[in-house]
Amino acid sequence: MEIKVLERDDRNMRMLIKGVDTPFINALRRNVLAEVPCMSIDDVVIIENSSVLHDEIIAHRLGLIPLKTDLDSYNLPEECTCKSEFGCNLCRVTLTLDREAKEGTITVYSGELVSENPNIVPVSDKIPIVKLVKGQKLRLEAYARLGKGKNHAKWQPVSTCSYKYLPKIKIDGENCDACGNCVEICPRKVLAKSEGKVEIRDLLACTLCQDCVEACPKQPPAIAVEWEKNAFIFSLESTGALPPERIMMEAIKILEKQLKEFASQIEVLRT
Ligand code: SF4
Ligand code: SF4
Ligand SMILES: [Zn+2]
Repeated sequence: MEIKVLERDDRNMRMLIKGVDTPFINALRRNVLAEVPCMSIDDVVIIENSSVLHDEIIAHRLGLIPLKTDLDSYNLPEECTCKSEFGCNLCRVTLTLDREAKEGTITVYSGELVSENPNIVPVSDKIPIVKLVKGQKLRLEAYARLGKGKNHAKWQPVSTCSYKYLPKIKIDGENCDACGNCVEICPRKVLAKSEGKVEIRDLLACTLCQDCVEACPKQPPAIAVEWEKNAFIFSLESTGALPPERIMMEAIKILEKQLKEFASQIEVLRT
């Protein structure tokens, strides 16, 4: 296997992965989406709510606020030694909110949630929760827990995770008269015309749509778009809950665990 990181910042990662097949890369994608845990608000005790939104809607909005996650300090509730429905300091974080509109209309933002652990806070302070007009109050206590995307999308550590085949574009220099139709039609500006020739400017941007092939007036077309069978461009965008490389590492660890479990089940069947 060969891996090259094409782009990386604190939220996004794009990699070129060669030497693997579709089931493997898809298993990684599914683990990123469904199995890598992150922290989200799961229970809310509303002490006072005189806003226009019902308690359930506020609880739902709170659940969807991405929280910075610390996977090393917290346990999944089902794996925690406390075995308690209410949780303990190792499987639950309490956040409180206490706001009142004393003058005019105010917007209550995610940044106003006060967490008992300064490392488990909303990834953004500017997510609106509700608007309050003069005299309205919102007081609540919220409990965040680790969970998995397969149980609720609020526990997905990524907003997107996808892969595509690595494109392979061939231009037949003998047949091509550089009419430029393929350059014009390409929605991703993959091709460019230079010195009376068509060249590939940004191969990785190609979506394999085949528009350029269809636009070519030559028969057979002077351009062919194919893809490598065992090479993929894998992209993920973190919600901010975890750094993108930590999400990948967790997905790989989980895949390894799943395969060991699978192998041990086969062993049991053989004995
Ligand atoms: S297949 Fe689509 S995206 Fe790729 S080069 Fe052709 S027109 Fe552009
Ligand atoms: S459309 Fe066909 S002939 Fe025209 S520049 Fe592209 S490959 Fe060459
Ligand atoms: Zn616990």
